[in-house]
Amino acid sequence: MKTHYQILIIGGGNAGISSASQLLIKNKSLEIGIVDPAEKHYYQPAWTLVGGGTFDINKTERSEASVIPKGTTWIQQAVSTFEPDQNQVSLTDGTKLTYDYLIVAPGIQLDWYKIKGAKESLGANGVTSNYMFNMAPYTFEASKRVKKGGTALFTAPNTPIKCGGAPQKIMYLLSDNFTKRGIINDVNVHFYSGGGIIFGVKKYAEALQKVVDRYGIHTHWKHNLVEVDGPNHKAIFQDEHGNLVEEIFDMIHITPPQSAPDFIKKSPLAVLDSTSGKNPCIGEDHIPKDYLGWVDVNKFTLQHNRYANIFSFGDVASTPNAKTGAAIRKQAPVAVENILHLINGGTLDAKYNGYGSCPLVTGYGKLILAEFDYDNNPMETFPFNQAKERWSMYQLKKYVLPWLYWNKILKGTA
Ligand SMILES: Cc1cc2nc3c(=O)[nH]c(=O)nc-3n(C[C@H](O)[C@H](O)[C@H](O)COP(=O)(O)OP(=O)(O)OC[C@H]3O[C@@H](n4cnc5c(N)ncnc54)[C@H](O)[C@@H]3O)c2cc1C
Repeated sequence: MKTHYQILIIGGGNAGISSASQLLIKNKSLEIGIVDPAEKHYYQPAWTLVGGGTFDINKTERSEASVIPKGTTWIQQAVSTFEPDQNQVSLTDGTKLTYDYLIVAPGIQLDWYKIKGAKESLGANGVTSNYMFNMAPYTFEASKRVKKGGTALFTAPNTPIKCGGAPQKIMYLLSDNFTKRGIINDVNVHFYSGGGIIFGVKKYAEALQKVVDRYGIHTHWKHNLVEVDGPNHKAIFQDEHGNLVEEIFDMIHITPPQSAPDFIKKSPLAVLDSTSGKNPCIGEDHIPKDYLGWVDVNKFTLQHNRYANIFSFGDVASTPNAKTGAAIRKQAPVAVENILHLINGGTLDAKYNGYGSCPLVTGYGKLILAEFDYDNNPMETFPFNQAKERWSMYQLKKYVLPWLYWNKILKGTA
């Protein structure tokens, strides 16, 4: 097996595959290796619609082999450690690969362990999460357990997560479902969030508050889910003062706390602690619970802050944008251009402006298309007010974006 690559990409998800394709379009003679152990590649944004009972889960999954760009080498293994001073990564089977340039894009980790009883409870007694391929269909099943007088809980953690809007999108879809079933005025829908506001961009927050009011949703800020007891239908939340609040549910949709994958946290690539100037995991036998460990990159150029030939973007990177596929669509060309500049002896001219987008589904056939930059200023694509709920934008999410993803974004042409 070849063990040296001009460009080595860790992670063949949205970020890894789209950047590999874009690099090849610019220069088909590049020698690119993609390391990813996965059998399957997922279009995760549609899991919200799956949970709402309006999208086929099978259309969100393809074999990883089918998305690997022709002209690249797929190494179907997992990376375990990074040795950036030697331009080397080690795989779990002990193989070592070297590179001239490295792209680090292994996505985000779901920290189920931070909620007692949650992982074991999933898939029964109305406990579910759209954050997992095999659970998203159960979300819709779980919603059927909610009858007149029943309670549906939706949670969001206090960590950054992929698609910050996803915890509430499913709540609005199912609230619309309760409306269609004629029970919305007789059910209790609660949103328990570790955050303090409905959305970071004022324009969209105001529009979403109207949606919350329309469905009569009860919001609870600065409350983190700490325990789930499926058989007894009980959820326990902790508020900012450490007080515990108990709720009995018919269904609960959980968005788990998230962080960088542990192998990234423990690596020399991770963000350093601001006071000690050290990685808090290196030399320790455990990972501090609150350490999120993103790959430490410049938020504009996407170049690593300590290793000039390493770039990172997508969910794993330290860039303070909304972690979404939409962001990756703007980040990938920046990383690609800057790597090609470096190869050609140039400077890093391409800059990412923090663009993120969140197609906020607010019901069946209703969507607010939030688009914004690093400073939470709206950056709208269309010549109309995107804070308004629109049928056309819902069609974009349900039909256009999945097609674009499989046929254009992964192929590097959009
Ligand atoms: C419920 C839900 C709704 C969402 N809705 C939207 C939306 O509406 N709009 C939007 O833009 N985004 C949305 N997203 C977010 C979007 O899916 C992610 O931001 C995007 O997939 C991130 O891409 P990535 O390449 O960083 O990670 P991923 O696509 O997750 O890929 C990571 C890859 O790295 C691989 N990997 C992991 N560990 C290793 C290792 N040790 N070695 C090698 N490879 C490894 C994995 O196998 C995987 O293939 C949603 C996500 C969810 C879960």
